[in-house]
Amino acid sequence: MEELVSYALDYISKNLLRVSLVAADLQALPADLFSRLVATTSEQALEEVHHAASSSGMPSKKSSTGGGAPPQQAQDLNLTAQQVQQLQQLVNRLYKNKLELMLKELRTTVVRCVHCGAMFSHADRGKLTCAARAAQQQQAAASGAPPGAGCQLVTHEADPTWRLQDHLAALRGSAAKHSSGGGAEPVAAVASWRDIYWDVWGVVHVMYCHHCLQYFPAQELGLCSYHPEAPIFMAGKSRGRYPCCGSTAQRAGTVPLFAP
Ligand SMILES: [Zn+2]
Ligand SMILES: [Zn+2]
Ligand SMILES: [Zn+2]
Repeated sequence: MEELVSYALDYISKNLLRVSLVAADLQALPADLFSRLVATTSEQALEEVHHAASSSGMPSKKSSTGGGAPPQQAQDLNLTAQQVQQLQQLVNRLYKNKLELMLKELRTTVVRCVHCGAMFSHADRGKLTCAARAAQQQQAAASGAPPGAGCQLVTHEADPTWRLQDHLAALRGSAAKHSSGGGAEPVAAVASWRDIYWDVWGVVHVMYCHHCLQYFPAQELGLCSYHPEAPIFMAGKSRGRYPCCGSTAQRAGTVPLFAP
């Protein structure tokens, strides 16, 4: 029996779009089976379902049954507005569970730095540098304060008052409101679990750059800290830009109010 269940779950996760269109709502699966489905379903399969559902334009919830012709792919698949909504809900729930699983598998959580406000992976706290904190330390050293830890890596520092759960709740904040809405009222944009998943993915996957010999979160891919040209700062601004690639630069030391 167990073998059969594994086989079925494997088949469903590989053919997620097809199965969810012909079979009963996969969200109705018992919790243990659903979490196994989460584990076996690849992001690629989830994206396939997402694109099938979103290419049907903007299904304006339940009121669109008699609406205009749905465009392209949804038309090819003959998706009804109800099916589109069901697919979107399924993708949303799978990504929500996949987020929890990802953090569990990487044995990490997301925290926020008190110095720069960036989110970072707690498990990689010893590897990631904080430009804002480094600038503060340089400034302190310049003004005669005793030197800190020498040439040690200047890392982020977690804000003890910030919690990922609260942050996610705020992002999903108005989600509860619009499910009961009549459909006509404007709905505030709510981050989907898919958006949140990929945001967090870029934070908790840490890579190594062989150019500047530093670790960095995947979301900063392409923003190497090695720059052949010196940064340019406007007078009175602590943030500037590197002319070589356009990345943001953090000014060290005091900010002059006027250009020299
Ligand atoms: Zn920081
Ligand atoms: Zn680099
Ligand atoms: Zn550059």
